[in-house]
Amino acid sequence: MTTNITTSTTELRDITKMERIGAHSHIRGLGLDDRLEPRQNSQGMVGQGKARKAAGMILKMVQEGRIAGRAMLFAGPPSTGKTAIAMGMAQTLGPDVPFTMVAASEVFSLSMSKTEALTQAFRRSIGVRIKEETELIEGEVVEIQIDRSMTGATKTGKLTIKTTDMETIYDLGNKMIDALSKEKVLAGDVVAIDKTTGKITKLGRSFARSRDYDAMGADTKFVSCPEGEIQKRKEVVHTVSLHEIDVINSRTQGFLALFAGDTGEIKPELRNQINAKVAEWREEGKAEFIPGVLFIDEVHMLDIECFSFLNRALENELSPLVIMASNRGMAKIRGTNFRSPHGLPVDLLDRVLIVSTQPYTEEDVMEIIKIRCQEEDTTLHPDALSTLTRIAVDTSLRYALNIISCAQVVARKQKLDSVDVASIQRVWGYFIDEKRSVQWLKEQQGMLVFEEGIENGDMGA
Ligand code: ATP
Repeated sequence: MTTNITTSTTELRDITKMERIGAHSHIRGLGLDDRLEPRQNSQGMVGQGKARKAAGMILKMVQEGRIAGRAMLFAGPPSTGKTAIAMGMAQTLGPDVPFTMVAASEVFSLSMSKTEALTQAFRRSIGVRIKEETELIEGEVVEIQIDRSMTGATKTGKLTIKTTDMETIYDLGNKMIDALSKEKVLAGDVVAIDKTTGKITKLGRSFARSRDYDAMGADTKFVSCPEGEIQKRKEVVHTVSLHEIDVINSRTQGFLALFAGDTGEIKPELRNQINAKVAEWREEGKAEFIPGVLFIDEVHMLDIECFSFLNRALENELSPLVIMASNRGMAKIRGTNFRSPHGLPVDLLDRVLIVSTQPYTEEDVMEIIKIRCQEEDTTLHPDALSTLTRIAVDTSLRYALNIISCAQVVARKQKLDSVDVASIQRVWGYFIDEKRSVQWLKEQQGMLVFEEGIENGDMGA
């Protein structure tokens, strides 16, 4: 099997990032200050201070690279911001630290085993920062630095490359080095060199940013080089995930599978080989690992085999931070007849830091509704805002947020500038919430197909 491990996938990562107005698109971060104290309303986040602070503390440890094999569970009633906080964490991490989000149900697929799906999710959440050397290219500016260790004097010149021919580059560079060493220019001065004549023009330090310098076609990329020599290559750093390296090097799949998302199973031997290779690069100082974050939503949907896999995977030195969320109380652990808090086995629960989320106050709910209206470009009449807040408190926050866009459609039809109470009421009539749905089913008295009699609160999965 090949040991030629390929990694050039930076472009692929960019393509997969698409933005649209989703349920959490108003979340821009955790809304914490420098001391990790939660601001009441910041970065799209409102209330839920304790949980946000806890998330911020964990995140800090991830960013400092001090945490591996840790797991965290957000436990709380539906619509209390568990997913929102996880999204806030993802936003805070920045583009270089991988963040993977999966719903536990995604693990159950026909194309791969549960443990393979989890392994892929884990490896997507581990970044490898790779330093690669690339050739110089035409139009770039190279910096020539003469470091005279004897005298301690350092001189720098900059040379615009108008050719990719290395002979010419060396020739020009050497002329420039000559000029620098003949004391014609001082350390830190910027010089231009004529490609054909080799004539060196001193531009001076301040000249470097002037329009004249720009007019000479200088680019802004610089590389430094050791004494008397022009660096042939320069260093480029990019980050890919272990999973991306797996897929690119998998003979059966090839890199196109990254676009299709249909990666299939990857052989354990290949993964071992890649682990060994990346470890080797790390030893040589060419690569470093960046443990990221894996978020598993609705974690109670996993079964006992998956939980056992998680227990083991968390012990791996290369494990990402695993964040789980569950809205279940005492629930059956899937694949067993045992009941346990949040539907998670106690040995796994014992390993995780549990953070509880609380139901929102009416004021918090109102603020969240306001933020969502801004995000969806909807103007609410003040009375409509109070009505919608009341609906959120009586039904659920998610229901209230969902009907904002519908109410806007109704208001537009009426040629109104803002959504009024009547628009909200009409939408409330069209779409029933969960409580009214249960009530309605009871009223049908067995009129629906395959009905088995519904007890109060027996609607959940
Ligand atoms: P479930 O258990 O049903 O999955 P959840 O706890 O994950 O619920 P979310 O999906 O995070 O709840 O929240 C429901 C909606 O409310 C989302 O649109 C979310 O962005 C928004 N929301 C929740 N909490 C906050 C908050 N503190 N600030 C701003 N928006 C929030």
